[in-house]
Amino acid sequence: APATDTQTESGELRSADGVPIQLSININDPAEIDALDPATAGVGLMRSEFSVASVADAANEERQLAIYRQVLERAGDKPVIIRMLDIGGDKPLAGLEDLPALASGLRGIRLLLAQPEIARVQARALLRTAVFGRLSVMLPMVTFPDEIDRMRDIFREEAERLGRRALPHRMPPIGMMVEVPAAALMLDTFGSAAFFSFGTNDLTQYLAASTRDSSEADTGKAAPAVLRLIAQAVKLAAGKPVSICGDMAGDPHYLPGLLAAGLRHFSVAPARRPAIRSAIIGLNADGTRAAGE
Ligand code: PEP
Ligand code: MG
Repeated sequence: APATDTQTESGELRSADGVPIQLSININDPAEIDALDPATAGVGLMRSEFSVASVADAANEERQLAIYRQVLERAGDKPVIIRMLDIGGDKPLAGLEDLPALASGLRGIRLLLAQPEIARVQARALLRTAVFGRLSVMLPMVTFPDEIDRMRDIFREEAERLGRRALPHRMPPIGMMVEVPAAALMLDTFGSAAFFSFGTNDLTQYLAASTRDSSEADTGKAAPAVLRLIAQAVKLAAGKPVSICGDMAGDPHYLPGLLAAGLRHFSVAPARRPAIRSAIIGLNADGTRAAGE
């Protein structure tokens, strides 16, 4: 079908069999927000660790607010998901290298809860950012439901603090990455998450006992296991918004499997958009066969 038939003016994309599909972008450098065009649904993942390069940046609420605010203002009425700092493990933060447990799984939300001052500063910056557009906040590397509850408490406390200082703020929806197998298997227990987004980069490495950039293990071979886990987890999501922002979403090869798993919202690097858009237009979402087959 010609693109004009499958792309409405609001930027809504449809598969060959007419199922609405959302296509969003992942951004690292905040300047990449300029890639947000009318045909893109929004920002499905902003990796805030690219905006916070050191412990000093992590302690600087006003600097973070200025960066996030620019992104939200540029996005206008389109939704933006900013992910809280995903540091630790293979993602170091300058000034925090000496933390002894960094190599042993203290990463993402676990690190934020272990270093609550970093989390509180970012929570305040995000609460203040939410006034400027359609912000949602996403938590990285969530393994257990209580981690969300503890972060939500931090947001509530910091919102009260901002209120006492009479600073404008708003509570954003708080969702989570699904990138730890233990969380994917138990997704129905995450009642306090507002939405879910699959991170296949980490999901793959933790499922395949590999590392994300490993040349030793063929992580592509793990794709069927990853797809099966995603399909099961989507069923456990209880109707909450579900998307995928890992690299698998940007590879047309996996699109039939991801559609069959029930996914209808894909967030990809800006450069991957044309390939994924044409793949979506050519596929039936409610079946895995290509259109016209
Ligand atoms: C992922 O793990 O798939 C993901 C999107 O997060 P990151 O690549 O930043 O670890
Ligand atoms: Mg990840």
